[in-house]
Amino acid sequence: MKPLRNALGLSLALAAVPAAAADEFTACVAQLRTEAVGKGIAPQVFDTALTGVEADQGVLDALESQPEFKTAIWDYLAGLVDEQRVADGRAKLGEWASVFAEAEQRFGVDRHVIAAVWGVESDFGRIMGGRPLVRSLATVSCFGHRQRFFRGELMATLRILQSGDMPAESLVGSWAGAFGQTQFMPTTYQRLAVDFDGDGRRDIVRSVPDALGSTANFLARAGWVSGQPWGFEVVLPAGYSGPSGRRNRQPLAKWSALGIARTDGGALSGGSPAALLLPAGARGPAFVVFRNFDVIYSYNAAESYALAIAHLSDRLRGGGPLLTAWPTDDPGISRLERREVQQRLLERGFDIGKPDGIIGQRTRVAIESFQTSTGLTVDGRAGQRVLNTLRAAAPPPKPPVAESPPAAPEGPAPATK
Ligand code: CA
Repeated sequence: MKPLRNALGLSLALAAVPAAAADEFTACVAQLRTEAVGKGIAPQVFDTALTGVEADQGVLDALESQPEFKTAIWDYLAGLVDEQRVADGRAKLGEWASVFAEAEQRFGVDRHVIAAVWGVESDFGRIMGGRPLVRSLATVSCFGHRQRFFRGELMATLRILQSGDMPAESLVGSWAGAFGQTQFMPTTYQRLAVDFDGDGRRDIVRSVPDALGSTANFLARAGWVSGQPWGFEVVLPAGYSGPSGRRNRQPLAKWSALGIARTDGGALSGGSPAALLLPAGARGPAFVVFRNFDVIYSYNAAESYALAIAHLSDRLRGGGPLLTAWPTDDPGISRLERREVQQRLLERGFDIGKPDGIIGQRTRVAIESFQTSTGLTVDGRAGQRVLNTLRAAAPPPKPPVAESPPAAPEGPAPATK
């Protein structure tokens, strides 16, 4: 549930705004206090949360940044639905089997979809974001072009604090205010979070059952149809140039009549109307999608996001990779392979920080430099070709040695090391 995403994966440092902006912020916070108290927030709750809080320049930078790098759908999916995430998700489905069963029973939502949301939103609770929500939301409530929207989220955050459901130290998340294991926005939390472990608090940060139950509740309330699939991967008849698009819903029989069939040979059934999705055009993977795909889309309004959740849910259920290849001769790579790209760049002397599998600005610049030096197309993209070229490249030069070690005796190289 992220209205805005830091698509670059930029590591934005916590930083104070300039002095003039700081004065403006102080005046704005005073206004916010009046607004909050008028909406039933106790003054002491507001003061405890916001006294001494400074605007966060890093959040403003993230709000205003325009991603200059468009991620291809095959790169996006390769990072979100890789073997590691499938294995982790299957393990989590086992570990939390009784909670998933209860969520399925109470909300009617397929456990594999709930697990897929958990995996994509926070890597199963590993990466929930580290920015204090109150500071981030106060900053974007006072600066930038979405102040009205973010004020609502700030007020919701203050209500969470007032309710005692979660302590202030738990309320950290993305720069835009999404938090917890399945990254709810504060207003979404207010509407839809549930206490699923029965301890009397709705804690989607520290309680896995609360996070999973809340996500199931979200999907149920968004219109999840029990027992219906999200859709299927399909094959198109050769040279297909007919209708497509998520909003172009047609009776299912029409798609069958156009010669569209499931890649796995199963019957094309599961709901009507349905839409034909061609994320990379008619030459790439194709999908017939039902109402439940739109329900997933409502969690985060991007078709690539919904497809990642949908496909990961199939993988978690035991399904295999997509059968149709993406229309590229340079496929995307997994997080493990991205770390390998970073490790090999580091070994070649590029200062890219710690390998974390997130291709940010510094990694991109290093890749561009490597691509230039090896005659590859320069696009800063971490794909299969860059990985293969790094693997095949001559070993990096040895780092200079400060003091000369004793000269090694001449002789054959040791047989083992
Ligand atoms: Ca609870």
